[in-house]
Amino acid sequence: MTPAELVSVIRTIPDFPKPGIVFRDITTLIANGPALSATIAHLAALAGRIGVETIAAVEARGFIIGAALANQLCCGLIPLRKPGKLPVPTVGVDYSLEYGTARLELDPGMMRPGQRVLLVDDLIATGGTALAGLELLRGTGASVDHALFVVDLPDLGGADALRHAGVEVASLMSFP
Ligand code: 5GP
Repeated sequence: MTPAELVSVIRTIPDFPKPGIVFRDITTLIANGPALSATIAHLAALAGRIGVETIAAVEARGFIIGAALANQLCCGLIPLRKPGKLPVPTVGVDYSLEYGTARLELDPGMMRPGQRVLLVDDLIATGGTALAGLELLRGTGASVDHALFVVDLPDLGGADALRHAGVEVASLMSFP
């Protein structure tokens, strides 16, 4: 399936999780074998040009995409977790979402300075989540020059904000 064909596999849910938010739901994509396989193959083709050592993925939907991609690239996965999940001392960043506030945490013991990390999530909207992940990773000395998403919502400006922070951003599809 081409990225254009994958667009039709994404389910659109109006007014979730709050009135006025149009939620692009990847549940229907990951439940569809050919669509999931094509998604990971397209992302792997993009990542293959980058020279990635490790993937960092955002809980929870980012784990699904990130783990499948890490398997394809034969690299490890660093989880960027919701608060209180990691069983060791963490570093964390609080941030704003399109609908509320949130926090990401990372085990700094997983990282070494200069490690080339690819940031992965299912979707970028305002960029708050990705920028928090970027701050966390760079705070450990990691080198984060690239980020990949299945879906971009360009009108919300996240991809541009990430580019402004020096990250090359790619996604398979965008919804205006
Ligand atoms: P941002 O921080 O860029 O505003 O929002 C992106 C984060 O929120 C991602 O972790 C993503 O999983 C989640 N998110 C926000 N809006 C949507 C949406 O419409 N669909 C999906 N699947 N995730 C969303």
